[in-house]
Amino acid sequence: LGANTAQVEVHPIIDSTNSELMRRIQNKVALESGTVVVAEMQQTGRGRRGRVWQSPFGANLYYSYFWRLDDGLQAAMGVSIAVGLAVYDAIKALYDIDIELKWPNDIYINKQKLAGVLVELDGQPQGPCQLVIGIGINLQMPQNTSEHIDQAWTDLSQHTTALDKNQLVASLTFYLEQRLADYQQDGLNSMYAQWNALNAFAGECVELNTGHRSWRGICEGIDQHGGIRIRQDGEVKSYYGGEISLRKA
Ligand code: ATP
Repeated sequence: LGANTAQVEVHPIIDSTNSELMRRIQNKVALESGTVVVAEMQQTGRGRRGRVWQSPFGANLYYSYFWRLDDGLQAAMGVSIAVGLAVYDAIKALYDIDIELKWPNDIYINKQKLAGVLVELDGQPQGPCQLVIGIGINLQMPQNTSEHIDQAWTDLSQHTTALDKNQLVASLTFYLEQRLADYQQDGLNSMYAQWNALNAFAGECVELNTGHRSWRGICEGIDQHGGIRIRQDGEVKSYYGGEISLRKA
């Protein structure tokens, strides 16, 4: 674990590890930065925009990390980029597997989804804010669950035989602390070029979708604030916002 880990709680079954920490925030329960909640199963695992994160018993890692940021909600915008890099660090260090990143919050191997990140926030535009950083990583997905996933997916067992969930929790927490400390110090300045080198859709035609509107362009990677740069008709524009979805066109 990292030097700043407050405690790691392990639940056999929970609705959602993110919901557990968000509830404590709403109920004003004192929480220390670095509190980790892990579960063996989630009954209502969540993705973005109300989507389901399949969370069968025992098979995968369901992990949430509580973190306080002093600089307000605006500063929290790029956090999922830093978190994606922490997942990269942890998996690379333990298994020497090269993962790819999809803006803003997904982790792939060979264009198949391995893990998802869901960052939830509580706070004001200015002043301190509280973040719950949820990370779901597939270790060994049962076949009957995988049938409910409507996009290409993978799990770590297809790429390594050396799986140890406790080790993964420790490694993930260690690298998360490092990446979040860097982020707090210097935003994404020292990270965005590395993220771009891992971009799963670099130079490819992609479709962005807000739920109300969609548009296409070439994916040029992220800027130093974590926005995605899309080339359309010879012009490159950055787009921000956790509710935009990016898919291969
Ligand atoms: P978009 O591609 O639109 O940005 P997303 O892939 O980021 O969406 P999330 O909200 O992060 O979507 O995750 C939910 C989606 O991920 C589900 O709709 C499903 O397609 C897929 N999914 C659900 N559970 C798993 C899982 N355990 N492993 C891999 N993919 C999953």
